[in-house]
Amino acid sequence: AKENGRNSYYFYSEGLNEKLLHRLHIESGLRHALEQNEFSLHYQPQVDAVSGEVVGVEALLRWKPSSGAPVGPDEFIPIAEETGLIVPIGEWVLREACAQAAEWRRDGIAPLNLTVNVSLRQFRSDIASAVATVLRDTGFDPRSLTLELTESVLMESPELVEETLQKLKALGVRIAIDDFGTGYSSLAYLSRFSIDTLKIDRTFVLDLPDSRDDVAIVKAIVALGKALNLSVVAEGVETAEQADLLRGERCDVLQGYLFGRPLPPQALRERLLDARAV
Ligand code: C2E
Ligand code: CA
Ligand code: CA
Ligand code: CA
Repeated sequence: AKENGRNSYYFYSEGLNEKLLHRLHIESGLRHALEQNEFSLHYQPQVDAVSGEVVGVEALLRWKPSSGAPVGPDEFIPIAEETGLIVPIGEWVLREACAQAAEWRRDGIAPLNLTVNVSLRQFRSDIASAVATVLRDTGFDPRSLTLELTESVLMESPELVEETLQKLKALGVRIAIDDFGTGYSSLAYLSRFSIDTLKIDRTFVLDLPDSRDDVAIVKAIVALGKALNLSVVAEGVETAEQADLLRGERCDVLQGYLFGRPLPPQALRERLLDARAV
């Protein structure tokens, strides 16, 4: 029994070591990923809930290290966040996405709203100047850019949040709250800060229309959004039944596999051009 105990202890610590090594491996890979051109962006369509027309895209970061298999954002973004690497990476995302969307515009594709995710570290590190520079360099229309923040960002010091959001609003960009309803912040920020969009988290969409609780939550979020004159987007829409319910509740914009997976730029472009042809 003693032997066993010791063995399981070794197993346990090996497991920990493996996790730590894996993390260090990702971290060191991330340090060179930008200069090695290992990042790319995929774009997921967002459709008008009523017309079904594509009205926007969300830029989503992809990482394929030159020496291995792709790593998912849920795995590497938290590490990039902890190490601060998210700041230069996030700036790259912003620049790449705005340049891409500006190019689509020049190619005659109807104006699309571009949504870019912004992390807490990035928000703290003079995001407004970074956004201003990128908008100037790419010529992208600020009114077509939405920055998606999580509730954790709004839990920062209210002074910092207010000042930064004011600077961003002055540039003309819009602000969305991502994963709305999953954070721990109070609702006070909705009236204090100028927010434009609420994005209903995928976990509330998943069990629609069967879960009575989730139906109630979705109804409440849409009602709150409407009362505050905000646009409401639902993410993770996978089935026609989910879409019907959200449309019925007057959710404005839908996003999810039902309408399209995140696509590389060329594939998305083809899809947009096809839509125009019919
Ligand atoms: P998110 O911002 O909530 O993005 C939505 C995620 O849901 C994406 O995962 C997307 O591919 C996935 N998704 C979209 N439709 C569906 C659906 O119908 N069903 C299901 N099951 N999933 C769907 P992805 O691309 O793996 O990104 C994961 C997270 O990584 C994002 O969640 C976001 O928090 C973060 N992330 C991605 N790109 C960036 C970025 O450029 N900057 C920052 N800071 N975070 C990013
Ligand atoms: Ca998002
Ligand atoms: Ca989300
Ligand atoms: Ca999420």
